[in-house]
Amino acid sequence: MENLSSDLSEKLKNVEYNYKVIENNINEAAVKSGRKREDIIFLAATKTVEPKVINHAVSCGLKYIGENRVQELLSKYEEYDLDNCDLQFIGHLQSNKVRQIIDKVSLIQSVDSVKLANEVARQAKLHDKIMNILIEVNIGREENKSGVMPEQLEELLYTLKDIEGVNVKGLMAIPPICEEKSQICKYFENMYRLFIDISTKKLDNISMDYLSMGMSDDYQEAILCGANMVRVGSALFGKRIYPNP
Ligand SMILES: *Cc1c(COP(=O)(O)O)cnc(C)c1O
Repeated sequence: MENLSSDLSEKLKNVEYNYKVIENNINEAAVKSGRKREDIIFLAATKTVEPKVINHAVSCGLKYIGENRVQELLSKYEEYDLDNCDLQFIGHLQSNKVRQIIDKVSLIQSVDSVKLANEVARQAKLHDKIMNILIEVNIGREENKSGVMPEQLEELLYTLKDIEGVNVKGLMAIPPICEEKSQICKYFENMYRLFIDISTKKLDNISMDYLSMGMSDDYQEAILCGANMVRVGSALFGKRIYPNP
């Protein structure tokens, strides 16, 4: 018992420290890119992290959290401090699971098909709401990765603009793993270009409010390239420990 509780308090201290470091880094990158700290959303990717630890980060000032598995979100749902933070869905989502989270999240970041958008819209209407979504773009054009191909984005948006029940609020991307920072910046820059291109088209029900990109290893670069939402996991909570299968 001794060990377990000192383990937890150690963890909480680390999260507190990491939170401050990330806040500083985000502030610095925001200013460098001509913006203010409050122009950037810091969302914590909370997979594998226990609610106690997540809530501690919230008590430090964290305002956005994102889960990427439906089952895990449901199992932790009652314990999140949702009076003080906003819960979003950031992972790959199967259509048949939409109904389980539709009334629990404020934004689904990972919509990449008409089929999924239709199901989100259908479930949203059943709850008398409009769901905010981001479109996930497979910016590295990687096989077996979710997200719409960049060249198909515009066509997808033209279909989504007429679907009642969803509002497109921006774009999200998970670029390929890169050895060099300059490589990943190319992907970020390509995303920013798409984001700006679409903004200028002024489509109904589609606003480019959020450009969600950048994770623990590259959130500062992402901000410098135009991201206004970063999703940070391990830099805040430490290396993920997955339970045994
Ligand atoms: C886990 C995860 C992140 C954060 O990853 P880190 O490298 O730990 O910061 C960001 N986005 C999504 C969709 C994730 O699943």
